[in-house]
Amino acid sequence: MLFETYGMIVPEPNTCKNYELFYQFYSLNIKQNLITNNLLKEVKSHLPIMNLEIKESINNKLQEIDTILPGIGVKRESTLREEYKISILNDDLYLKEKYFNGNYEEYINYITNIQQVILLYSSFENTISSYLKDKGITDRIFQKKLLEEVCNKVSGFQEKFNNLNDREFTINDFSTLWKYFTFIRNLYTHSSGVIDEEFIRSMENIHSDIQDTIERNFNFIERSLFPDNEKILRNNDFIESDLFIITEIELRFFRNFIIYVWETIYLLSHNLTKEITHQYSASFNLLENQFQFRHVQSPEESEVLSSMPSFYTKKISNFYISDYLCPSCISEPISLYRTLYNPNISLAEITDRKEHETLMMERVFTCPQCRSFFLSKYQEKLSDNNGTNLLNLSDDGYLLILDQFNIKGSAYMPQEDMENIQSHLSFYQLEKILIEAKKNSARLKD
Ligand SMILES: [Zn+2]
Repeated sequence: MLFETYGMIVPEPNTCKNYELFYQFYSLNIKQNLITNNLLKEVKSHLPIMNLEIKESINNKLQEIDTILPGIGVKRESTLREEYKISILNDDLYLKEKYFNGNYEEYINYITNIQQVILLYSSFENTISSYLKDKGITDRIFQKKLLEEVCNKVSGFQEKFNNLNDREFTINDFSTLWKYFTFIRNLYTHSSGVIDEEFIRSMENIHSDIQDTIERNFNFIERSLFPDNEKILRNNDFIESDLFIITEIELRFFRNFIIYVWETIYLLSHNLTKEITHQYSASFNLLENQFQFRHVQSPEESEVLSSMPSFYTKKISNFYISDYLCPSCISEPISLYRTLYNPNISLAEITDRKEHETLMMERVFTCPQCRSFFLSKYQEKLSDNNGTNLLNLSDDGYLLILDQFNIKGSAYMPQEDMENIQSHLSFYQLEKILIEAKKNSARLKD
């Protein structure tokens, strides 16, 4: 229950409107959060400067307006409002220092976690209530008693939940856990997480229940898995006017708990085929090449080449940078990444389409900017301008095909001395060797 990944049981189309709604909302929310987290890691070192720039740009905007307006013969009206101090981000320094040691990343994490709790809570609450109403099960539900209602009115709920998740939750467990997260959610929506008297009182009321729920349902190993003896759910020692910062464990517990509750309700009312395989195929047109391909020439283009990572990404590491430029991206030069097939294979092995069975591939190039693929003809170079292209794919379609091309491809030239190097060199050693090889680009021309 605590350690699962982000996944959720996939609904079959048109089986349960409310479950499908929650599923969609949940997956969008999780993806957005994962992307935000990744972006945060990437720009971590720039965060303080970015904050400063945002502050400055707010001031600059006003100054800009003040210089532009007189030029066209008008003056900005000043209002009484301007007699006050107008700003954003000036007064959060205290918060950041006190709760996040002045760390911007933790501070932004806190904000995104608050948003996640609020959004998931309301999506869950709304879809469950609406489901119960649709079933004519109940007409008025008190927020705090939502899961009690579910236990009492959805026949077989408790047994199915415990069965699915190998737990022994009582009605009181469901009710207590739901109250716990309701108090947190309300603290976030009503007072931005600043602990108040009411929150402390509410938590005191369920303190022993929470303690009991955790001890009965999570064994010693589960309870002591976390660093610094962090509790699965904190339920005491709250200090008034401190910030309630939800921990990663509490957030994960919350996410999994509401998912498992919804999944249970869904499975009770629908006979789901186990493990449906979802066949998603990307749509694209295979086009005869119309481009003139050319290698990097100018110093400016060489700079682009050397500034791009040697491999497409760590995961897509069978695509290695080439010194061909993308013929489709004209405004700014960008180098193509290349993968090789040795021995050659047919395009049908990637696309699973019968009509591609006769198209044999040895070299495939891709542009990460315009999401296109360029295939040279078997035993020909790309600069023979004789191949086929897949142009401007959608984000999802592009990733799907890129992944397939990558799985079967290789970054190394056949008959090169590097041919079997992959088996006994680490990624980093390999990258070093290839960076050397890149410098000598004549050697790498295909
Ligand atoms: Zn391009």
